Amino acid sequence: MNKFEQLGLNESLLLAIKDLGFENPSEVQEKAIPVLLEQNTDLVALAQTGTGKTAAFGFPLIQKIDAEDRSTQALILSPTRELCLQITNEIKQYSKYVKGLHTVAVYGGASITEQAREVKRGAQIIVATPGRMQDMINRGLVNIKNINYCILDEADEMLNMGFYEDIVSILSDTPDDKNTWLFSATMPAEVARIAKKFMHEPAEVTVGAKNSGSATVSHEFYVVNARDRYEALKRLADANPDIFSVVFCRTKRDTQAVAEKLIEDGYNAAALHGDLSQAQRDSVMKSFRGRQVQMLVATDVAARGIDVDNVTHVVNYQLPDEIETYNHRSGRTGRAGKLGTSIVIITKSEIRKIHAIEKIIKQKFEEKSIPSGIEICEIQLLHLANKIKDTEVDHEIDNYLPAINEVLDSLSKEELIKKMVSVEFNRFINYYKKKRDLSGEKSERGSEPREIRAGDPVRYFVNIGARDDFDWMQLKDFLKETLDLGRDDVFKVDVKEGFSFFNTDGEHTDRVMSILNGYELNGRRINVEISKNDGGSSSRRDHNGRNSGGERRSSGGFGGRRDGDRKSSGGFGSRKEGGFRREPGSFQREERAPRRSESNDRPAGRSFEAAKNRRPRRS
Ligand code: ADP
Ligand code: MG
Repeated sequence: MNKFEQLGLNESLLLAIKDLGFENPSEVQEKAIPVLLEQNTDLVALAQTGTGKTAAFGFPLIQKIDAEDRSTQALILSPTRELCLQITNEIKQYSKYVKGLHTVAVYGGASITEQAREVKRGAQIIVATPGRMQDMINRGLVNIKNINYCILDEADEMLNMGFYEDIVSILSDTPDDKNTWLFSATMPAEVARIAKKFMHEPAEVTVGAKNSGSATVSHEFYVVNARDRYEALKRLADANPDIFSVVFCRTKRDTQAVAEKLIEDGYNAAALHGDLSQAQRDSVMKSFRGRQVQMLVATDVAARGIDVDNVTHVVNYQLPDEIETYNHRSGRTGRAGKLGTSIVIITKSEIRKIHAIEKIIKQKFEEKSIPSGIEICEIQLLHLANKIKDTEVDHEIDNYLPAINEVLDSLSKEELIKKMVSVEFNRFINYYKKKRDLSGEKSERGSEPREIRAGDPVRYFVNIGARDDFDWMQLKDFLKETLDLGRDDVFKVDVKEGFSFFNTDGEHTDRVMSILNGYELNGRRINVEISKNDGGSSSRRDHNGRNSGGERRSSGGFGGRRDGDRKSSGGFGSRKEGGFRREPGSFQREERAPRRSESNDRPAGRSFEAAKNRRPRRS
């Protein structure tokens, strides 16, 4: 006996199911079909798209309908013409071995009289969009006064599309003793209202809360300039000190690069992608589960099936190529009934993708702006205060207290609090007071105050860009290495498709021109010119946040910290003191560390060949 048979489906349906090639019922089918077959009940079923809802109501409906009676017995309402046709087609396939059963699609944009004629010929099942259905009722072309079953498919979407009035009106034309089956991906207030108003003690079926973008996930997007993506990510992490997240990038290379930057900037981050060995991946996952890693930067493929509960945020550092993938990503959070947030960092030109995703996930996004430095400082400060309050005291410390008290004796309680908080807080305030807001497109960079400096910056145009597989981080790395420059010497890197811009101080111009011009990259000659465009500002601030504030934070210049104790060295939530230390999950750091120190100590004036050979990622 196959699984469908066990659900109680009859022979003609089983034959059709065999033809369709369905091997096992889906979860919503398994849960809904027996209930609907055995009882005459109302039902509310919540399940994501693509979980087989049509058959979940279609199979029992077909089995319950009296095919010998030609009157209309069931009405299926669905939001769009496409869905209407799709459902009709499915129902026809499911019922192909049921003699005398007829299903008619009723939707706008086609002849209403033709549809009316088909109904009249005897259709037990009508599949309709609410608008056209209302029209048919008004014109007396259809009689639904005696139906036994009314199905509201994609109820949330119908209400989203403004069909509330139509639905209420249509339902009022149906008998009270019918059964109403409501299917929806989400349960917003309006759907609950319909359920309450028109349903009587409905049975409930919920599916997929485990790994689908369910009602427990809220969706947010942040519009930033493309070059600010990384800085935005950092700020979002800083604004969520307890973040425990999966950060999705599109490619392995970006995944690796973002993870490396985060580690370098002092976050508990690690990369997960297909270029890692199985042992490395296992180790990363172990650290992630153990929460030593708070930001797991991953590709879609590598993150498939990550079943870690309590993930607080999914971050779409870049949107996936296939927007359908978004659902899989956001399903990494909001699991097991916990609340989660799915964040998308996008540029202005990508906003339409948000609308497309909203359609798929049937949930709305909230547009937010990247928190300002002040806001982040506030959040961190409160977090710190709470952490101090909640810290459990290890009585090992008692032995040291007399000496400590002696040092701090002269301070009042108020002074002591101020100083303690400042130990941690100063680095944040120092970092953020220098940073502009990232409220994206609205704030023009040109309007920021100019900082006059001795060596004026020079902006360059270079004929390599995204086409050569660079994003700004990679191009900056490449320039730094090739030109033997320090980490802050190349700034305002702006990558376009076929070319890019970047800045250095005027003192490096000769070096840039002589080394880069003619440098061969993958068989192409690099050409660099001094650009007329000064980059909008002469400020030396770097948009990627690796200015002095950023460096200071990760260089771990705060005495008195116990490095081994992650709880206290974690400092501000997601960061750990100094990315250099051996931490599980940050082995990438160890691989990278020598490269950095090498570049710092490197004497000036290397040959091109040597510079080229040092490129580990460019082969
Ligand atoms: P939903 O309404 O939940 O979005 P559909 O009912 O449209 O999902 O089903 C999605 C796809 O899955 C359809 O192509 C359908 O034929 C197929 N399908 C449904 N049930 C099964 C099953 N038990 N096994 C295999 N495929 C199925
Ligand atoms: Mg459906």
